[in-house]
Amino acid sequence: MSYSEIKSGVDRTILDWIDASEEKIIGISKQIWDDPELQYQEYHSAALLSGWLEENGFTLERGAANIPTAFVASYTTGEGPSIGILAEYDALPGLGFDVAPVRTPNGKNGHACGHNLYGTGSCAAAIAVKQAMDANALKGTIKLFGCPAEEGGGAKVFMTRDGVFDGLDAVITWHPANASICTQASSLAIYSVRFRFHGRAAHAGVTPHLGRSALDAVMLMNMGVEFLREHMPVSNRIHCVVTNGGIAPNIVPELAEIWFMLRAPTRADVDTLLQRVTNIAQGAAQMTETTVEVLKETKGCSSNNIASAVLSDVALANLKLVGGPKFTEEDWAFAKLLNVGVTDQEKIENMRMMYGITDEHATDDLYDGIGDCMLEGTTAPYSGDAGDVSWQAPYCQYSIACQTVGTGNHSWQQEVCAGSHIGQAGMICAARALACSAAEFMGRPELMKAAREELDKKLKLYPYTSPLPADATPFDED
Ligand SMILES: [Zn+2]
Repeated sequence: MSYSEIKSGVDRTILDWIDASEEKIIGISKQIWDDPELQYQEYHSAALLSGWLEENGFTLERGAANIPTAFVASYTTGEGPSIGILAEYDALPGLGFDVAPVRTPNGKNGHACGHNLYGTGSCAAAIAVKQAMDANALKGTIKLFGCPAEEGGGAKVFMTRDGVFDGLDAVITWHPANASICTQASSLAIYSVRFRFHGRAAHAGVTPHLGRSALDAVMLMNMGVEFLREHMPVSNRIHCVVTNGGIAPNIVPELAEIWFMLRAPTRADVDTLLQRVTNIAQGAAQMTETTVEVLKETKGCSSNNIASAVLSDVALANLKLVGGPKFTEEDWAFAKLLNVGVTDQEKIENMRMMYGITDEHATDDLYDGIGDCMLEGTTAPYSGDAGDVSWQAPYCQYSIACQTVGTGNHSWQQEVCAGSHIGQAGMICAARALACSAAEFMGRPELMKAAREELDKKLKLYPYTSPLPADATPFDED
């Protein structure tokens, strides 16, 4: 039987289960919102989500990749495609705000990136797929990946290196956003690198000729990088801070350090950029008769995203099928209050730049439609650890409206939306779309084959290598 013959039955099972479970799903997202846990400390959140999956018949592997708050939940009905769904649940430091129409800091950490919605919505989708597998004799495996520490901890890069995502036919994920689209935008590959210079200390007044200044090397390196900026592609980005500039002016600094983040559209580009910046560091060391250590940060390196056009087309169709978030009248009224001070121009730029949306609703306080633009061939200005997962199996992702138009991630408005019905409505929409797409991927092995061929072509040009040292762990001191 072809998938089109059973699709409506599968979708019905999924949507019915999500409708019947809506209160429970929202309750779990609120429990995580109420107890925001920072990167690699997400013990309660991971236990809550993995426990929920276990209750629903999934087999749990906790502590994946030797990370206590990472887990993989699997359910299989036999031979067939293996489909992965990603979940995140870490919070941000200091971004706790009360659910109120004006900015009300509560001194706590907070879910200002909406990962309480992300984690819960993804787990709900996985359970809904399982219901559909059982009810419609769908053969395959559904896996939910509990991924900690997205905010600066890069857990997925470690999980990728350790083979956690091996053997998948497709991966699907989402992120809370201002509007709902299926995005093919790439992200920036990033390397975080410290250049530590070693010189020789000396009395700066009496014996400066005996000293070799590590700080001079840092300053010369920085000057060299400034000159490099004119001769690098405009798509590249370099940011830095001096993390050690010596102890006192009367001591020639024997130790100094400058910390760079390098971003570029692809891993190949960022490899080139790192080589050029390293050449400058070595030049600075030579000029100052110092030595330099190049220290790649274990938690700061990730690859660019490569989305599958084959999967994204199907995922967009499913998003349109389930429709956008069902915001209530109260949500619209609340959004209006949250958006006091957000200008129409800010809304227009937000919708155009992030979602390719330019319609007449771009200045509304909430966007409940589905954007058609998939941002193919564009590069988003951020980096993320899902990038590495996208090289392991055909990958697609949604942005789903969970916050007001014109406000950004990590804003107080997003923290408030993530704890209120605006975000919860978006999460329910995400769960529906993720589940319908994941089930369709499972039911169409020929689609999985086409998506794999598409990915293999990309990997031929630049095979994946981990940006991490082989023995690094997320718990190393940098
Ligand atoms: Zn996020």
